[in-house]
Amino acid sequence: MGYIHVYTGNGKGKTTAAFGLAMRAAGRGKKVCIIQFMKPDKGYGEQISARKLGIELHPMGRDKFVNKSNPDKIDVELARKALKLAKDKMNGNYDLLILDEINVAVDFNLISVDDVLNLLSDIPERTEVILTGRYARNEIINRADLVTEMREIKHYFEKGVVAREGVEY
Ligand code: ATP
Ligand code: MG
Repeated sequence: MGYIHVYTGNGKGKTTAAFGLAMRAAGRGKKVCIIQFMKPDKGYGEQISARKLGIELHPMGRDKFVNKSNPDKIDVELARKALKLAKDKMNGNYDLLILDEINVAVDFNLISVDDVLNLLSDIPERTEVILTGRYARNEIINRADLVTEMREIKHYFEKGVVAREGVEY
Protein backbone atom coordinates (compact mmCIF):
# COMPACT_ATOMS: atom_id res chain seq x y z
CA MET A 1 0.00 0.00 0.00
CA GLY A 2 1.06 3.63 0.16
CA TYR A 3 -0.29 5.33 -2.97
CA ILE A 4 -2.59 8.33 -3.38
CA HIS A 5 -5.84 7.91 -5.33
CA VAL A 6 -8.24 10.61 -6.51
CA TYR A 7 -11.81 9.81 -7.60
CA THR A 8 -13.27 12.91 -9.17
CA GLY A 9 -15.53 14.03 -12.04
CA ASN A 10 -19.20 14.82 -12.33
CA GLY A 11 -20.55 11.31 -12.87
CA LYS A 12 -21.89 9.02 -10.18
CA GLY A 13 -19.65 6.58 -8.36
CA LYS A 14 -16.89 8.40 -6.49
CA THR A 15 -18.02 7.78 -2.95
CA THR A 16 -19.25 4.28 -3.73
CA ALA A 17 -15.88 3.39 -5.31
CA ALA A 18 -14.09 4.57 -2.18
CA PHE A 19 -16.41 2.57 0.09
CA GLY A 20 -16.04 -0.43 -2.19
CA LEU A 21 -12.29 -0.24 -1.70
CA ALA A 22 -12.80 0.08 2.06
CA MET A 23 -14.87 -3.09 1.97
CA ARG A 24 -12.19 -4.91 0.00
CA ALA A 25 -9.41 -3.79 2.33
CA ALA A 26 -11.42 -4.63 5.45
CA GLY A 27 -12.04 -8.10 4.02
CA ARG A 28 -8.28 -8.57 3.97
CA GLY A 29 -7.95 -7.52 7.58
CA LYS A 30 -6.53 -4.08 6.73
CA LYS A 31 -6.95 -1.16 9.10
CA VAL A 32 -9.27 1.34 7.45
CA CYS A 33 -10.46 4.81 8.42
CA ILE A 34 -13.00 6.91 6.53
CA ILE A 35 -13.35 10.64 7.21
CA GLN A 36 -16.30 12.30 5.48
CA PHE A 37 -16.06 16.02 4.83
CA MET A 38 -19.34 17.97 4.62
CA LYS A 39 -21.46 14.89 5.36
CA PRO A 40 -23.55 14.31 8.49
CA ASP A 41 -23.82 11.10 10.47
CA LYS A 42 -27.20 10.32 9.09
CA GLY A 43 -27.39 6.59 8.69
CA TYR A 44 -26.67 6.55 4.96
CA GLY A 45 -26.52 2.97 3.70
CA GLU A 46 -22.76 3.10 3.27
CA GLN A 47 -22.34 4.43 6.81
CA ILE A 48 -24.40 1.58 8.24
CA SER A 49 -22.46 -0.98 6.22
CA ALA A 50 -19.05 0.46 7.11
CA ARG A 51 -19.89 0.15 10.79
CA LYS A 52 -21.18 -3.39 10.34
CA LEU A 53 -17.82 -4.27 8.84
CA GLY A 54 -15.96 -2.67 11.75
CA ILE A 55 -14.60 0.14 9.55
CA GLU A 56 -13.77 3.29 11.50
CA LEU A 57 -15.97 6.10 10.20
CA HIS A 58 -16.06 9.81 11.01
CA PRO A 59 -18.77 11.84 9.30
CA MET A 60 -17.69 15.44 9.97
CA GLY A 61 -20.42 17.54 8.38
CA ARG A 62 -23.83 18.69 9.48
CA ASP A 63 -27.27 18.07 8.10
CA LYS A 64 -27.48 21.22 6.01
CA PHE A 65 -26.15 22.11 2.58
CA VAL A 66 -23.08 24.31 2.67
CA ASN A 67 -23.52 27.71 1.05
CA LYS A 68 -20.74 27.80 -1.54
CA SER A 69 -20.55 31.58 -2.01
CA ASN A 70 -20.78 32.37 1.70
CA PRO A 71 -20.26 29.29 3.90
CA ASP A 72 -21.32 29.46 7.54
CA LYS A 73 -18.51 29.67 10.08
CA ILE A 74 -19.52 26.33 11.52
CA ASP A 75 -18.98 24.65 8.14
CA VAL A 76 -15.44 26.04 7.94
CA GLU A 77 -14.80 24.87 11.50
CA LEU A 78 -16.12 21.38 10.79
CA ALA A 79 -13.95 21.04 7.67
CA ARG A 80 -10.88 22.20 9.62
CA LYS A 81 -11.74 19.70 12.32
CA ALA A 82 -11.97 16.95 9.70
CA LEU A 83 -8.58 18.00 8.32
CA LYS A 84 -7.06 17.95 11.82
CA LEU A 85 -8.53 14.49 12.39
CA ALA A 86 -6.99 13.31 9.11
CA LYS A 87 -3.62 14.66 10.28
CA ASP A 88 -3.95 12.79 13.57
CA LYS A 89 -4.79 9.61 11.66
CA MET A 90 -1.48 9.84 9.79
CA ASN A 91 0.15 8.39 12.91
CA GLY A 92 -2.44 5.69 13.40
CA ASN A 93 -0.89 2.89 11.37
CA TYR A 94 -3.74 2.74 8.90
CA ASP A 95 -3.52 0.75 5.69
CA LEU A 96 -6.26 2.79 4.04
CA LEU A 97 -7.42 6.31 4.80
CA ILE A 98 -10.39 7.65 2.84
CA LEU A 99 -11.08 11.38 2.74
CA ASP A 100 -14.55 11.46 1.23
CA GLU A 101 -15.54 14.76 -0.44
CA ILE A 102 -12.30 16.48 0.55
CA ASN A 103 -12.03 17.86 -3.01
CA VAL A 104 -15.40 19.55 -2.55
CA ALA A 105 -14.28 21.05 0.77
CA VAL A 106 -11.37 22.64 -1.14
CA ASP A 107 -13.63 23.77 -3.98
CA PHE A 108 -15.93 25.46 -1.42
CA ASN A 109 -12.89 27.15 0.19
CA LEU A 110 -13.57 25.50 3.54
CA ILE A 111 -9.95 24.33 3.53
CA SER A 112 -7.11 25.27 1.18
CA VAL A 113 -5.36 23.20 -1.42
CA ASP A 114 -2.13 23.78 0.54
CA ASP A 115 -3.77 22.25 3.61
CA VAL A 116 -4.38 19.10 1.58
CA LEU A 117 -0.90 19.08 0.03
CA ASN A 118 0.63 19.46 3.50
CA LEU A 119 -1.46 16.59 4.73
CA LEU A 120 -0.34 14.43 1.82
CA SER A 121 3.31 15.20 2.54
CA ASP A 122 2.90 13.42 5.91
CA ILE A 123 1.57 10.10 4.69
CA PRO A 124 3.30 7.10 6.24
CA GLU A 125 4.80 4.50 3.93
CA ARG A 126 2.11 1.89 4.50
CA THR A 127 -0.96 4.11 4.18
CA GLU A 128 -2.99 4.30 0.96
CA VAL A 129 -5.00 7.53 0.80
CA ILE A 130 -8.14 8.11 -1.25
CA LEU A 131 -9.48 11.61 -1.95
CA THR A 132 -12.95 11.84 -3.44
CA GLY A 133 -15.17 14.58 -4.76
CA ARG A 134 -15.87 16.67 -7.81
CA TYR A 135 -13.59 19.44 -9.01
CA ALA A 136 -10.30 17.98 -7.73
CA ARG A 137 -7.67 20.69 -8.02
CA ASN A 138 -4.80 20.18 -10.45
CA GLU A 139 -2.24 20.44 -7.65
CA ILE A 140 -3.85 17.43 -6.00
CA ILE A 141 -4.17 15.50 -9.27
CA ASN A 142 -0.47 16.14 -9.95
CA ARG A 143 0.45 14.82 -6.53
CA ALA A 144 -1.67 11.63 -6.85
CA ASP A 145 -0.52 8.26 -8.18
CA LEU A 146 -3.92 7.13 -9.45
CA VAL A 147 -6.65 9.44 -10.72
CA THR A 148 -10.02 8.30 -11.99
CA GLU A 149 -12.54 10.68 -13.46
CA MET A 150 -16.16 9.54 -13.26
CA ARG A 151 -17.48 11.21 -16.38
CA GLU A 152 -21.20 11.66 -16.65
CA ILE A 153 -22.49 10.20 -19.89
CA LYS A 154 -26.06 9.95 -18.62
CA HIS A 155 -27.63 10.56 -15.23
CA TYR A 156 -31.24 9.78 -14.42
CA PHE A 157 -31.33 13.02 -12.47
CA GLU A 158 -32.01 14.59 -15.87
CA LYS A 159 -35.20 12.51 -16.06
CA GLY A 160 -36.27 13.82 -12.68
CA VAL A 161 -35.22 10.74 -10.69
CA VAL A 162 -34.48 11.89 -7.14
CA ALA A 163 -31.93 10.32 -4.80
CA ARG A 164 -33.07 6.88 -3.68
CA GLU A 165 -32.43 4.98 -0.45
CA GLY A 166 -29.98 2.17 -1.02
CA VAL A 167 -28.77 3.60 -4.34
CA GLU A 168 -27.75 7.19 -3.63
CA TYR A 169 -27.70 7.11 0.19
P1 ATP B 1 -22.14 8.04 -5.12
O1 ATP B 1 -22.20 8.50 -3.67
O2 ATP B 1 -23.45 7.52 -5.57
O3 ATP B 1 -20.96 7.19 -5.42
P2 ATP B 1 -20.70 10.34 -6.05
O4 ATP B 1 -19.92 10.27 -4.81
O5 ATP B 1 -19.98 10.11 -7.34
O6 ATP B 1 -21.94 9.37 -5.99
P3 ATP B 1 -21.29 13.12 -5.50
O7 ATP B 1 -20.69 14.09 -6.45
O8 ATP B 1 -20.66 12.97 -4.17
O9 ATP B 1 -21.47 11.70 -6.21
O10 ATP B 1 -22.80 13.51 -5.41
C1 ATP B 1 -23.63 13.22 -4.33
C2 ATP B 1 -24.95 12.72 -4.81
O11 ATP B 1 -25.32 13.27 -6.06
C3 ATP B 1 -24.99 11.21 -5.00
O12 ATP B 1 -26.16 10.72 -4.43
C4 ATP B 1 -25.00 10.98 -6.50
O13 ATP B 1 -25.77 9.87 -6.89
C5 ATP B 1 -25.63 12.24 -7.00
N1 ATP B 1 -25.04 12.56 -8.31
C6 ATP B 1 -23.87 12.12 -8.81
N2 ATP B 1 -23.67 12.58 -10.05
C7 ATP B 1 -24.73 13.34 -10.35
C8 ATP B 1 -25.14 14.09 -11.50
N3 ATP B 1 -24.38 14.16 -12.58
N4 ATP B 1 -26.32 14.77 -11.42
C9 ATP B 1 -27.07 14.70 -10.32
N5 ATP B 1 -26.77 14.01 -9.22
C10 ATP B 1 -25.63 13.32 -9.22
MG1 MG C 1 -19.55 11.54 -3.25
